[in-house]
Amino acid sequence: MKELEERIRRDGTVKTGDVLKVDAFLNHQCDVRLFDHMGQEWARHFAGKTITKILTIEASGIGIACCAARHFGDVPVVFAKKAQSINLDGDQYTTTVYSFTKRKEFPVIVSKKYLDADDHVLLIDDFLANGKALHGLIELCHAAGASVEGIGIAVEKGFQGGGDKLRAQGYDVDSLSIVESMNPETGEITFRD
Ligand code: 5GP
Repeated sequence: MKELEERIRRDGTVKTGDVLKVDAFLNHQCDVRLFDHMGQEWARHFAGKTITKILTIEASGIGIACCAARHFGDVPVVFAKKAQSINLDGDQYTTTVYSFTKRKEFPVIVSKKYLDADDHVLLIDDFLANGKALHGLIELCHAAGASVEGIGIAVEKGFQGGGDKLRAQGYDVDSLSIVESMNPETGEITFRD
């Protein structure tokens, strides 16, 4: 998606440790018009599929997932929670995910009330690096008996391999930008065609 690639080039910052910072429009300040265009792109890609629910992970997935939902007939958006809370009552699906940016494991929790075997799920997240977060969400879907219809990603870092592994497993992964390389010294970013 040219608009997203141009925005990453303009406002993204390459950090050491393979981290791309996009706080200006995605991870801190949110560009809702851009989010809407991203939702349009995913709707075009997944047009032939029945989607009954969008599942994402807090916090940065929520904004893009909600904007995307408007393009999928206003299906509900469920976000997996990263910590146990007194507001989470009843039965839950839980797994553990290793965080690329925080360098530690955290729980990923969805209430059984909001995910079940009738659901056809589109997974959405801001970044795809090694694929740990996505695997966690897939595990929750499997536990619920829900089917994963596809995966929509804003920024995939192709050189970390998580996206290609998921494609090899048969998942339909639509990444709106795929970073092939990025250089923290020069700030140069190249995208996969
Ligand atoms: P993975 O689980 O695929 O290794 O990493 C994906 C998760 O880590 C995303 O949910 C995202 O929050 C975070 N992440 C991974 N790489 C980056 C990055 O370069 N920049 C930012 N802002 N977040 C990242």
